[in-house]
Amino acid sequence: MTELKDKTVLILGMGVSGLAAASFLLKRGIKVKVSDSGDGTLKKSDVDKFKQSGECDFEWGGHTEEFCSGADIVVVSPGIDIKKSHSSGVLPKDVPVIGTLELGARYCEAPIIAITGTNGKSTVTDLIGHILSEAGMDVKVCGNIGNPLIGEVDGLSKNSIAVVEVSSFQLETIQRFKPYIAVLLNIAEDHYDRHGSYDGYKSEKYRIFENQTETDWAVINECLRDSPEIKDVRSRVVFFDKEMDEHVTAKKNEDTNSKLERKLPVFRHDEILPVSGDHNFENIACSIIVAGILGINTDKVKEAVKIFVPLRHRTERIGIINGIVFIDDSKATNIDATRVALKTVDKKAVLIAGGRDKGGDYGSLVPLVKQKVKTIIVIGEAKTRIVEAFEGETKVVDAEDMGDAVEKAIKYAEPGDIVMLSPMCSSFDMFSGYKERGEVFQSEVMKRAPKS
Ligand code: ADP
Repeated sequence: MTELKDKTVLILGMGVSGLAAASFLLKRGIKVKVSDSGDGTLKKSDVDKFKQSGECDFEWGGHTEEFCSGADIVVVSPGIDIKKSHSSGVLPKDVPVIGTLELGARYCEAPIIAITGTNGKSTVTDLIGHILSEAGMDVKVCGNIGNPLIGEVDGLSKNSIAVVEVSSFQLETIQRFKPYIAVLLNIAEDHYDRHGSYDGYKSEKYRIFENQTETDWAVINECLRDSPEIKDVRSRVVFFDKEMDEHVTAKKNEDTNSKLERKLPVFRHDEILPVSGDHNFENIACSIIVAGILGINTDKVKEAVKIFVPLRHRTERIGIINGIVFIDDSKATNIDATRVALKTVDKKAVLIAGGRDKGGDYGSLVPLVKQKVKTIIVIGEAKTRIVEAFEGETKVVDAEDMGDAVEKAIKYAEPGDIVMLSPMCSSFDMFSGYKERGEVFQSEVMKRAPKS
């Protein structure tokens, strides 16, 4: 792709994807400016390294008009709300704005399998990557899962496959992004703080199909079959649901001319159980469909699913202490993720929840909480809203930090109960991310385990 040759690219954001974009462009001799509104995470030695690899400039502590002027194109990192940056008036006028995903896809020679949805993206991205790799394909798992596509494209050829986790933030800034297979797992309340409304969030999610044509595939949750947006999907549509035995729901979309010509592998639940819960059966079903579309042999798919090791901090069972089962579901950063996690619970639970609020309706969980949760221990900025939603419905206890929360959870739990961290909120008020939150939870639990 030569369209950026001799151009100056302004990159907004110095996180993982902004810096991956900068390195990629500099390697091609393209001039780069990187602007970050925060303190910046780069050390002087890192800046020197970038400067040695090409013509580049950096600014921290805010995007200034002076620095941002003169760019021919803006590449925005997913963490930055471009609507806000535009309205601040510092960005050059009439200049195209694309995201780091769009940039990566423009340079990617490999066919892309893109996975989006409110919940289950990382699990499905990882599972599809695992199945394809077990089948001997040259596959790269990347995207929102931690390693941006733009950082991986150099290692991808026409014969590889890029399995890319895609967030709604990244879909906001696509233009030509055209995955060969696009997966939409589910849509529930999330990110009101960024998208403003459920409809705004939903329409970003459907953009994953925006540039697909009849030769591409859309793999969509059966529960979205009646959504009005489906009729605008031009690719071949296959619906999936959790029922895998006999009917992996590979029905064609009646509203399009799509035909599913390939036979898909069919499994029974009891044959393949590396994970539990209906949501995981959905995750497996749609991964199987993707493998089927790619023509992977049924037995190979089956063997691969059986040995899949689920990602950490997703309903991860840590162990049993004094008869209490501890579960780390730190990755549940919205209300719906906690809903599915609670559905997997077959005992009474003490739930540790809270963190940075994203503006959803906690009250929608009241019936399930009344059924499954004996005590909620609340932490973080969202405390007041969570207390308001559940006070009077179940016991709600305030905790200062994770150590205090685990201490109190143990106090209120009895042998036979479950203590589950499933926060419904993001972690950034108290931790660097969900991983650190999960690690701290696990270490606070282990501190209290009897020494053998
Ligand atoms: P994401 O990358 O979309 O955040 P993950 O695979 O990391 O998704 O899972 C995050 C949380 O979402 C898990 O802890 C689990 O509670 C929940 N979850 C996983 N798969 C699904 C699904 N298919 N539907 C609803 N919730 C899910």
